[in-house]
Amino acid sequence: FLLPIGALFGVVLSACLWLLSRLYVQKAADFRYALQSPQVFMQYQPIVDLRSGRCIGAEALMRWQRGKRMVPPDHFIAAAEKAGFIERVTERVVQLVARDAAVFLHEHPDFHISINLSAADLSSGRTVSMLANMLERTGLPPQSFWVEATERGFLESTDVMQVIDDIRTVGLRVAIDDFGTGYSSLAFLSSFRLDVLKIDKRFVDAIGVAGIGTGDKVVTMVIDLARTLGLEVVAEGVETEAQAHFLRERGVQYAQGWLFGRPQSVDALRKLVAAWLPSQAPLATST
Ligand code: C2E
Ligand code: MG
Ligand code: MG
Ligand code: MG
Repeated sequence: FLLPIGALFGVVLSACLWLLSRLYVQKAADFRYALQSPQVFMQYQPIVDLRSGRCIGAEALMRWQRGKRMVPPDHFIAAAEKAGFIERVTERVVQLVARDAAVFLHEHPDFHISINLSAADLSSGRTVSMLANMLERTGLPPQSFWVEATERGFLESTDVMQVIDDIRTVGLRVAIDDFGTGYSSLAFLSSFRLDVLKIDKRFVDAIGVAGIGTGDKVVTMVIDLARTLGLEVVAEGVETEAQAHFLRERGVQYAQGWLFGRPQSVDALRKLVAAWLPSQAPLATST
């Protein structure tokens, strides 16, 4: 009597799993197709200097508008990674960023755009040539770009050391993203030549929160660690004035978060940056 129920359960379960995997595969396929369409575009989140409040750069974040729905990047990026076409995604990101920012970056030579790389990008020599080609095509200086990759990206890649070195030799800066969410050892981390450390939002969230008594101490530790390694620091996910104040007091240079600006279109970003042009400063009275 139990046997048929068990069998039935098994059949239903595998049907559900099959359906889920079909949906997943379908989603990846749809995304791959959408990549070359206007459904997929970039937004840019301001990165500001905490002392001057000036916007000094922006992080490029991919968006997929699937019909009426915005698909979360974590989903479609993971789908592309699993389906094995993340390099195509990165290629498209670089293409869209180059197109969006060409004029704009020529106007602002100090400004930079930060591009997210996945683990597979860090294992591939193609990434370096892709970035170098983009610089050649647009005539933009390498200082106009940062790349960011998560700790996981560093851990899961082979030849990552070489790829990072090559990217830095071309002249781009390299940031470790979502720092503190992975499990890499200090020894592992310090073996890479990096430029920037991005403190993950979860640490910023813990600033001054009662109950998470060690929050402030942990953030301070991460800031000190970055300083010891000679890295610049960007705090991510800053939402309150109190968090910004805390970070500023501890000498954190840069921050991004809703307090300063949401991810936005390139046109909106241009306006924001233009508001900080030297020509906007009060004119000195000449005699
Ligand atoms: P990430 O690289 O750590 O990007 C920062 C994420 O935090 C973004 O989420 C951003 O919208 C969000 N964020 C920034 N400030 C705040 C804040 O103050 N409050 C809150 N609640 N959130 C904030 P988003 O755009 O959903 O992207 C999620 C992740 O997807 C990114 O994390 C990145 O790992 C990945 N991703 C996004 N675009 C790309 C891309 O073009 N290529 C690759 N490889 N990954 C991407
Ligand atoms: Mg990032
Ligand atoms: Mg991040
Ligand atoms: Mg993240």
